Amino acid sequence: MLSKILKKSDCASCRFCCSFRRQSLWETPLFDRETKEHLEKKFPLASFRPAGENSFTPDLSGGYRTDEPDEEAACPFLDSEKGCVLSDEEKPFDCKIWPLRAVRKSAGGKIFVALTTTCPALNRLPFSEVQSLVKSGLGGKILSYASANPDIVKDWRGGFVEVE
Ligand code: SF4
Ligand code: SF4
Repeated sequence: MLSKILKKSDCASCRFCCSFRRQSLWETPLFDRETKEHLEKKFPLASFRPAGENSFTPDLSGGYRTDEPDEEAACPFLDSEKGCVLSDEEKPFDCKIWPLRAVRKSAGGKIFVALTTTCPALNRLPFSEVQSLVKSGLGGKILSYASANPDIVKDWRGGFVEVE
């Protein structure tokens, strides 16, 4: 969904957003029940935990080898050479819109689109380019998906920049 501003080659050499520190586990991608059950059959080694009312997320708790806070555990669908092995239909909406997020500042408050500031490729672009992509329709798609799938809405935190 961000292919106009995010090149595959940028992600191939980065993959930052497919590995998670313990303090970043709130960011792991969400799957609906049907997709989770499909992936459990296709990838028997992947395990999931509940994350929200109707969603599941990869359980990375067994992926850490040390107590170091900076250690990262990879998403079970990340191949070190090929990148994400999921098809477009299987890939979570969260991953399709990253580093954009549907966010709210308080419980029940307005949902808006925010940019996380940790993607090196988008950080190299003028913010106006991201803003214009969001305002040209992508923002509306994100907000509409978020109202139908509220589990993907993240709480506002430092590192987010409001876009729309
Ligand atoms: S952090 Fe950005 S550049 Fe890196 S893999 Fe994720 S989307 Fe691609
Ligand atoms: S599902 Fe794919 S894109 Fe999403 S975090 Fe896992 S490997 Fe990365």
